[in-house]
Amino acid sequence: MLAPVKSHSEMNEPSSRKLIIAIDGPAGAGKSTIASRLARKLGYVNLESGAMYRALALKAIENDISFDDETALDNLAHKTKIMLEPTIGGNRVLLDGRDVTQRVRETDVSEGASRVSVHPKVREWMVARQRELGVDGGVVMEGRDIGTKVFPDADVKVFLDADPVIREQRRLKQYSRTLSAESMAAELRERDRRDRTRANSPLEPAKDAVVLDSTALSEDEVLNRVEELAQKKLLRV
Ligand code: C5P
Repeated sequence: MLAPVKSHSEMNEPSSRKLIIAIDGPAGAGKSTIASRLARKLGYVNLESGAMYRALALKAIENDISFDDETALDNLAHKTKIMLEPTIGGNRVLLDGRDVTQRVRETDVSEGASRVSVHPKVREWMVARQRELGVDGGVVMEGRDIGTKVFPDADVKVFLDADPVIREQRRLKQYSRTLSAESMAAELRERDRRDRTRANSPLEPAKDAVVLDSTALSEDEVLNRVEELAQKKLLRV
């Protein structure tokens, strides 16, 4: 049976449907800033999925669990409650009710997050929690596998990339007080390598993602492009 033909006005009326917007890409590409600004513009929530991996890594550090012990990490995850609270400056991260927002940004936790995220059982647990958070839409979720695994049917999928040197410079601006330029660059490169080469859900653009290289674009230009994609979906064009 043929689907009923939509009238012109039907096609162009803004939909009240709340979208799922996936923004993936490597560290330092500007995902968090774009996700947070876009969410504010649309009245959505922005969720930083990486913060969940960071929170689990922190709990592993505190419980003396090796980042390589998949079974122990999986057990730990099942006894853990991670909450993300969107704020203007990014997500507030609650680990079993405790505010760990600042702590999870430190170097040992960054490395831990990158290492715990290679384990399929850990990813399975994370993906299930992330789906619960975004299932009703009205969400801009950023990470590495949102468009490929967490929400393969997301309404908008963006893979945000940038030249590695630019990403290192941007990160250094954010964290210059705690790390030298060399160690920052080395950490970023190693995390990238691990994300792109892991067997389970490696970092790669979804087949239907719009790949945006932000190397030569301003933050506003990137934001405008992603917002355009979202508005097109809302207008059903
Ligand atoms: O995004 P962020 O840098 O906070 O993520 C920390 C780490 O968590 C990343 O280096 C990556 O290894 C992992 N991660 C992931 N999948 C996601 C989000 C983050 O594997 N969806």
